[in-house]
Amino acid sequence: MKPMGPIPPEFSAQIGSLTIAGKNATHWIDIAGDTPLFVYDFGIVAGRIAQLRAALPGGIGIHYAVKANPFAPLIRAIAPLVDGLDIASGGELRLVNAAAPGTPVSFAGPGKRDDELTAAIGAGVTINLESEGETRRALAIGERIGVTPKLAVRVNPAFELRGSGMRMGGRASPFGVDSAAVPALVRMILAAGASWRGLHIFAGSQALDSAAIIDMQAQTLALAGMLAEEIGVVPPLVNLGGGFGIPYFPGDTPVDVAAIGAALGDAMASLPGSLTGADFAVELGRWLVGPCGVYLTRVIDRKISRGETFLVTDGGLHHQLAASGNFGTVVRRNYPVAVASRMGEAADEPVTVVGCLCTPLDRLADQVALPPAAVGDVIAIFMAGAYGLTASPVGFLGHAPPTELLVGLPDNPNAIFTS
Ligand SMILES: *Cc1c(COP(=O)(O)O)cnc(C)c1O
Repeated sequence: MKPMGPIPPEFSAQIGSLTIAGKNATHWIDIAGDTPLFVYDFGIVAGRIAQLRAALPGGIGIHYAVKANPFAPLIRAIAPLVDGLDIASGGELRLVNAAAPGTPVSFAGPGKRDDELTAAIGAGVTINLESEGETRRALAIGERIGVTPKLAVRVNPAFELRGSGMRMGGRASPFGVDSAAVPALVRMILAAGASWRGLHIFAGSQALDSAAIIDMQAQTLALAGMLAEEIGVVPPLVNLGGGFGIPYFPGDTPVDVAAIGAALGDAMASLPGSLTGADFAVELGRWLVGPCGVYLTRVIDRKISRGETFLVTDGGLHHQLAASGNFGTVVRRNYPVAVASRMGEAADEPVTVVGCLCTPLDRLADQVALPPAAVGDVIAIFMAGAYGLTASPVGFLGHAPPTELLVGLPDNPNAIFTS
């Protein structure tokens, strides 16, 4: 028997049938027409944004990194609650333009094509530049289309986010401009007459160690201060990155946003003079939306093989790759799962929950203890709001895509947005 990650507090105390946004899981399945489906409770997202706002010092903007969950109704609902949207492709640009016109947008990511840069610069998006070559292309495109480009420089810092699931600093990298080369590049941007929007420093992702995040933010501010000093111009915006993780696995605990906010408040109170007048922002994806999502999949078959019980479901890694352990994890561990009709019941049957794909990788839960589940019962996989469907090989094996439902909007509780 292997342990599983903690069921999020919004669901962990429930007894009987799982409810999401106040309604039985079976209600959402009826609305979708069938399993499998993702249900996103926007009330959880709104609550987390409010919690983060209360924790962060005033004046720190919150950006949503769209790639965590680009479901259009979610982008539409989240845009009014945040200060900016961060995109990573021309496709995401089209999504945010359609779902949330007028929201400030910034565009990071290596390998931006000329057509993507043209569309983004034309739409007034801030480009977080990843290299000198990209800077030259952005400047040329601005000139060609007669638009002053808004350009920020993404910095590849000399430090990394300790304990981060995905380290993105402190080494040779396709992301960002090595910190030593940043001042000259910013001077080139200023000399070309472009609108310099500031610095973007993103040092890692999925960190659960609050002290490491506090440390990273202090180093980020110090680095931004040094660069600004050398450049001789105050950066309009310093994007401090994010990296806030969420508990997926056994033993994981939430980050302490109150402690992070308090430490950031202290740091802001003693900013280097070179940053006086700059704006600041954090950019988060999974922390904002990960806990809002539940993936619901039905048991199609129950079988025993060499003494082990398998629950074979109609879902799988083609929808929820991360739960199978094949998206950014080194050692496979179990996401939190439950039998949706038996919340709170004694978990006394050891089972392995698999998907319907013909690959041994398609394991949604490996040797976990659940209340006994029969064919037709529904398995809930939690923490499915970020890097779920969007990060899964949905075309693999040709099964139908799952339905997505966004529900639980605080100002429109009866609204249901579907795919
Ligand atoms: C992916 C990404 C994020 C979001 O990371 P999370 O771990 O989802 O918070 C933020 N900024 C940049 C530049 C990214 O590439």
